[in-house]
Formats: sequence, C-alpha cells, structure tokens
Amino acid sequence: MPTDPAPARRALLWLREPLAVLTGDDTADRDAAAAGGVVVDPAAGTVVELVPAGGTPAAGPCTVLDAREHVLLPGLINTHHHFFQTLTRAWAPVVDVPLFPWLTRLYPVWARLTPEDLRLATTAAMAELLLSGCTTAADHHYLFPDGMEHSVDVQVEAARALGMRAVLTRGSMSLGRRDGGLPPQETVQEAGTILADSARLVAAHHERGPGARIQIALAPCSPFSVTREIMRDTAVLAQELDVRLHTHLAETVDEEQFCRERFGLRTVDYLESTGWLTDRTWLAHGIHFDDDEVARLGAAGVGVAHCPSSNMRLASGTCRALELEDAGAPVGLGVDGSASNDASNLLLEARQALYVQRLRYGAQVGVRQALGWATRGSARLLGREDLGVLRPGAQADLAMFRLDGLRFSGAHDPLSALLLCGADRADRVMVGGRWLVTDGRIEGLDLEELIAAHTAAARRLVG
Ligand SMILES: [Zn+2]
Repeated sequence: MPTDPAPARRALLWLREPLAVLTGDDTADRDAAAAGGVVVDPAAGTVVELVPAGGTPAAGPCTVLDAREHVLLPGLINTHHHFFQTLTRAWAPVVDVPLFPWLTRLYPVWARLTPEDLRLATTAAMAELLLSGCTTAADHHYLFPDGMEHSVDVQVEAARALGMRAVLTRGSMSLGRRDGGLPPQETVQEAGTILADSARLVAAHHERGPGARIQIALAPCSPFSVTREIMRDTAVLAQELDVRLHTHLAETVDEEQFCRERFGLRTVDYLESTGWLTDRTWLAHGIHFDDDEVARLGAAGVGVAHCPSSNMRLASGTCRALELEDAGAPVGLGVDGSASNDASNLLLEARQALYVQRLRYGAQVGVRQALGWATRGSARLLGREDLGVLRPGAQADLAMFRLDGLRFSGAHDPLSALLLCGADRADRVMVGGRWLVTDGRIEGLDLEELIAAHTAAARRLVG
C-alpha cells in the first residue's frame, strides 16, 4: 500500500504590499517593517512573518493576495457593549434624556426580552461590528428575567455561529428599587443565583491561552444596580476562577452622588473597598475621576473602556484618556450598548475618540493613538497579548479597508484617511486565519433575513 511520501507543505498566505499597514506595535518603524505585507498561516491561525518593503517571504512559497488597494490593520477589539440594546435603538421616549431616566424608561422594555430576541440581537450587533473591522467583541449582559436564565449560553452559540471572538460577561443586577437601587424588582436576582451561574458559565465556556475564541468574565452591572456584597463576592470568585472583572464606573455625576449617599464613598473608594482595584478589572466609561483617583487606577493597572459616542449621546462627560494612560491604566474603546450610541461601528468609534480627546487635550492626540486604543489598548483590557497586533506568533485577526469611495477621493495619507474621511466598512476581515468578511460581505450570513427578523423582534419588544 503506497504511503504519503511527505506531509503536504502548509499553505501560507501573503497579504502583499498593502497600501498602508498598522502593525499595532506602536511605532512607524514597525509599520515600515511590514510595508511588504504580512504572511499568515491560515491552518495555525497565526501571523508568521512581516515582510519589509521590496522583500519576499522568508517562510517559503505562499498564496498571494494583492493588497495594494487595501489599508491593513490588526482586527479591532470592542471592549464594552450590550448587544440586546440593538432592539431599542433610537426609541423615541429616550432619545433626548440622560442616563438615569434613560435607564428607568428602558428597564421594563428590556425585562420582556426572550432568548430568540437575544440571539437575533447578538448576531446583529456582532455582524455590525465585524463589518466595521472588529474581530473580538466583549458584551455585558445583565438581564436574566424568568425564562432568560441561559442568556449567556445563547450568546456563546451565536458568537460561535458567526466565528468572531467574544468575551461574554456574566452581568448581574441584585439591588432592586425596593432596596434603594435603580432597576425594577423583576429584573434583579439573588446573590446565590448570580454566583452559581457565574461559576457554571466559566466551567462551561471559558477558554484559556493564546487563540481562545470564547471567554467569560464576571460583570456586576453598576454601583446603583448591585449590592456591595455581590461586588465583593464576585471579585473573590473571579480570582478563584482566574477570569476578568468588568463593571460600569464613574459614568455620570448622578452615579457619584448615589455612591456618596448609599456607601459614603466616592466611586474609586467604593471600588477599592470591594476588592476591585486590580489589573483584573476593566471599567466602562471611567469619566468622573479626580487626579488622585486617576493615579490610583493607573498604579493598580485598572483598565478603562472609553465609550465616546455613548458619553456624548447621554451627555455624561469625557474620559480623561491621556492622563489615565500616562498614569499606567490601559485604555481601550467600546461602542457601548446600541440604545446609547446607537451604532455598533468600531472604526467610527475610533474617529469619535480621536475627536473628543482632541477637544480635551488638543491636536496632539494622534490618528495612530486612536487606532491604538481600538487595537492593542483594547486587547490589554481583555488581558490578551495575542490580539490587537500584527507580529509573528500573534493571532491572524486582521481587517482590510479599501479607499475607493467618494468620501476618500483626494485623500493622501491612507492611514489617516481611514479616520479623517470616516471609513465605516471593511472589505475583508479575518479571524484566526479564516476570512469572515470578503468583498464587504459576511460569509454564510443572510443579512437581509437577519435584518427582517431583528426588526420584527424590535417592534414586538416595544409594542
Ligand atoms: Zn454600558
């Protein structure tokens, strides 16, 4: 019987001579080192080589994709969202109000969510992110009314079906209106139920190490919707299970007043008193910090997910992004829930971050810096060294953009044009060596059918 003389040579793919490339390794020098392109190993799902200008891959023969009309970026990473909120975008009663009334009007609507609604909302939000060049998305799901006990499992299934990486956080609400919290009583859960389900989800779905596709993090919702005990016990559990911690903090002045009145503490003191001032934690928003708090968060390595559109939409304030970074706190980006943005487009969010931070700090805030928040910075918030950069050994997660539309006509520097001219859609997106988007379309997804079903679910929910 004949035997195979040698294992077949692995087929490598050379993304050849991109119009521009951002490796995410922070300096223009690094980007020049990849001017000839990037070689990936689709089978292993990793980057194997950066090719300098005029060079050819040392790794051997490759299939070639001519990238001369594409700007090449590491896959963007979204670090804060509430996928279910895509069903309540631009809902008239909350279009023009700030956070607390916005929440109290929406809670009863969200309490009617069904598993099928959540599946559609998760798929819609992730698809929208994917088409904007995002390859990894974190979601903060905190609604577990009767019948929705398996919400995170539903999301895991939807993420796997689409092929994106996801960090699905097991959110929680335990402080209802009866006990002085903001959410209605029917949306909160007992502490024992929350902690047991958190441990179950980590055991069932959390992957570890480079290349992990699905990860679980623990995420009590906010100071005004959970008890001090659930904050403390969740931090202990996260340490035991070695998973990350996420919550909303210092989003609005209302929240700061709530913390002073209920706990007699400012937000960061409250965070510290519950065991959360660690580099395991990343916070959504992180706006209302004083100088001392910025220094303490930085020293502890607490990450902050800057959500500029949501902060402008709800008139919450502006994150002190540069000062947090200078103090040592990793900064990433989040589009936030789609009822307060109301889009899930991460590249446009990087543009918003660039501009709102320029209003705070001046034009020194750079295009590369904003793209750095959306890539390497976000990866740090999620504790991932294998994502957010294009370097040998990193995951082959990347996005490619064409600059051939009217909005780019007359543009010169391609990388700057992405943000300054408002690029909003990737032409190709790869996750772990596999193309999920080609020619601007998601492989295997009937987008029209999804939009029809999602729209119908959204109408039912508010009806
Ligand atoms: Zn949020």
